[in-house]
Amino acid sequence: MSDLSFIPDNPYILLTPGPLSTSKGVRNAMLRDWCTWDDDYNADIVQNIRERLTAIATKDTANYTTVLMQGSGSFTVEATLGTAVPADGKILIITNGAYGDRMVQMAKVLKLNFVEYALTETDPPCPQKLDEMLKADPAITHVSLVHCETTTGMLNPLKEIAEVSKKNGKIFIADAMSSFGGIPMDVSELQIDYLVSSSNKCVQGVPGFAFAVIKTDVLKATKGNARSLCMDLYDQWEPMNKSGKWRYTSATHVVRAFYQALDELEQEGGITARHARYAENQKILVEGMAELGLESLLPRELQSPIISSFLYPNADFDFMDFYEKAKARGFVLYPGKISNADTFRIGNIGEVYPDDIRRLLEVIREIRNW
Ligand SMILES: *Cc1c(COP(=O)(O)O)cnc(C)c1O
Repeated sequence: MSDLSFIPDNPYILLTPGPLSTSKGVRNAMLRDWCTWDDDYNADIVQNIRERLTAIATKDTANYTTVLMQGSGSFTVEATLGTAVPADGKILIITNGAYGDRMVQMAKVLKLNFVEYALTETDPPCPQKLDEMLKADPAITHVSLVHCETTTGMLNPLKEIAEVSKKNGKIFIADAMSSFGGIPMDVSELQIDYLVSSSNKCVQGVPGFAFAVIKTDVLKATKGNARSLCMDLYDQWEPMNKSGKWRYTSATHVVRAFYQALDELEQEGGITARHARYAENQKILVEGMAELGLESLLPRELQSPIISSFLYPNADFDFMDFYEKAKARGFVLYPGKISNADTFRIGNIGEVYPDDIRRLLEVIREIRNW
């Protein structure tokens, strides 16, 4: 069972897409200040974090590098799109949920040339269809995909989509925000050029910065591309790669907490062990919910171990009332976000253990009125 539920300053567990419940160790790591101009921060913490992130992302550490960027996850997605795609480039954005849609919004604001491969929220993209789209429009230079579409909890076919993109000679960008650290993957084997994730998802740090694991040669070719001074991944990387120095004020306490979160990920047994815990959380949840008359939105084969969407049990279901009752009993759930069905979501990630999910199921049994 997690250490959270009986601590007065954490009256509930967050079963949300992020920020997530964190361990006491991670929160305690924030209780001191750091100077950002000498080695005990830049070398021992920042460089160490960058090296460890690259190493958990791939065995091919010689060809990949990691950039850290201030802000929430979306800031690094936007920095990635704005830095990766040159003025004469064109990106194909695959969308089947809110996070794919957000990339389209970013492309519009940044005035990128783009095309969208749009699907409904319960439809995974088809590799053959992507292949046809890429062959029909040779101006496309980049492809982006959200790995786990947190809108529904769907796991998109990352391997197949990356494969088709690379066969067609495109640069491939993966928003693995909610899956990296919780699902084993190797960016080099998957041929991912840019993988974006953030501090407060499956690595279980606190919110405040995000990061991109990038194929070094690809990043080196992007100097001068960015449409923004602050959100220039190349310019952020250059000094950081040399000395661990962030260009502008870094979120020191958050960064130190993330270092602790990486230690705790290792202590748990790495990504494989964390994935097993999340998958067990998810299995107990979905089976328990089905017994309580709550059906999953997605079929099992599309479902990620990250977050699950459930259909309302009936037309009279009052989510806000259900939400308040669950919260008062220690569990924060999350509303749904899709257009074609009434749903709510329950996250399985963060400092959350199978016993927590079992207690949640007891609480739902107690408060349900269907
Ligand atoms: C959480 C998340 C993001 C980033 O959201 P922020 O609120 O900016 O941190 C982006 N993509 C996916 C798939 C996510 O789950």
